[in-house]
Amino acid sequence: MAGRNFLFVPGPTNVPDRILRAMGVPMEDHRSPAFPALARECLSGLKPCFKTEQGVPFIFPSSGTGCWEAAVTNCLSPGDRVLASNFGQFSYLWIDLCNRMGLKVDVLEVEWGEGAPPERYLAALEADKAHAIKAVLVCQNETATGVTSDVVAIRKALDAAKHPALLFVDSVSALCSIDFRMDEWGVDVCVSGSQKGLMLPAGLGITCVSQKALAAAKTAKGRRCYFDYADMITANANGYFPYTPSIPLLYGLRESLQMLKEEGLENVFARHTYLAGGVRAAVQTGWKMKLCATDPKWYSDTVSAVMTPPGINAADIIVRAFKRYNLALGAGLARVAGKLFRIGHLGDCNELMLMGALAGAEMAMVDCGVKVAPGSGVAAAADYWQRNPAPRALSA
Ligand code: PLP
Repeated sequence: MAGRNFLFVPGPTNVPDRILRAMGVPMEDHRSPAFPALARECLSGLKPCFKTEQGVPFIFPSSGTGCWEAAVTNCLSPGDRVLASNFGQFSYLWIDLCNRMGLKVDVLEVEWGEGAPPERYLAALEADKAHAIKAVLVCQNETATGVTSDVVAIRKALDAAKHPALLFVDSVSALCSIDFRMDEWGVDVCVSGSQKGLMLPAGLGITCVSQKALAAAKTAKGRRCYFDYADMITANANGYFPYTPSIPLLYGLRESLQMLKEEGLENVFARHTYLAGGVRAAVQTGWKMKLCATDPKWYSDTVSAVMTPPGINAADIIVRAFKRYNLALGAGLARVAGKLFRIGHLGDCNELMLMGALAGAEMAMVDCGVKVAPGSGVAAAADYWQRNPAPRALSA
């Protein structure tokens, strides 16, 4: 097809040309005396992304899922109890991983479209007088439903119950797009990946681990090898990795961290909020459709999940958008398959890129029989963006 493919799934996100160029490097010796400079820049450059002084960032040659596994196998022992909530496919998959790793998961079942329920976490923690729960899991941004949860409220639940469990946060589709504060929020393990807010291809599992979690890892009995924090710590101390790292991705990460620093993380968050506002205006004011997120307090600034009307299969819209308009929209996953499509608005993005996604989604919907007025979403987004001040990186 002529022209560019419009990539608007909520990860992988568009990789800026600057990062693509930075990754175009010949291979080099990852055991050379020159290599540690690159590794150290990447590792120390990640600390501001997690807003941490005490936490230790790790880069695994994996995706976010590898870091879920790392958290569980390093810090916990088989048979340990963990507390988690299921409100979308990714929060569910983390629970599934815990089960498969031999943990006992206390699952808070939540309607998909809502976020993690702090009051139910509190009740479960208060009821656990013996402190059998060793870790509390929360997905900061549920990519499947476009729902952002309040991590601070979960921390407060732990504190109010005076419960010593570790706090694990999945920030795969939030980190470097939506605010995250490892130290201030008392997070023990933050799990993320390269292909979302960091604007890189998939391939790096990015995680950060508190001193409390590292102490727990010393005695935990979880079986681990490839994802052993201890091996990473030993190798990273000298600027190396325990196995062959992806050198192009590390050059890409260095460039990504530089770009985020130049824009300023707070400006990056403001840009995501502003862009998300325009997308929501398109969906709600323009198309008069509903988001999967049932309350504004859950709205995600990185992904919007758009519910299609009864009788319309969202999968048809996604296929039509792809085949006819060269636009990739995110599918509905598991129990919301066919019921929604997702627009990713994270990473390297601006108004006009999103206009392409909105226009394409609109045309595909009209083609599939959805009663939206042509141009209505684009007009509502334009109106929103023109009425609101543009954040730093979007205006000269
Ligand atoms: N958690 C969330 C919230 C995600 O969105 C994803 C992937 O999209 C994952 C975990 C799994 O990450 P990965 O696909 O990088 O393994």
